[in-house]
Amino acid sequence: MKQSELPRCPECGNMPEYALKPNHMGWVWGGLKCPYDHYRVNLNGPADSRARAEKKLTPQWIELVEKVSLEP
Ligand SMILES: [Zn+2]
Repeated sequence: MKQSELPRCPECGNMPEYALKPNHMGWVWGGLKCPYDHYRVNLNGPADSRARAEKKLTPQWIELVEKVSLEP
């Protein structure tokens, strides 16, 4: 899924952005978050590539946004 197709932040309507950092071993750590930090999801462990990290984070973000949207 492309970044532009991700659901927007329920708080401010901005597109979420990846905050990923490879460490010295080449593992990727980080998360996917609103640019204003209203909401974020994090990897619970390192991924072995940026693509794989994004693949893990996308459903977590979608789930978070759905959960938040359902709250009154
Ligand atoms: Zn936001």
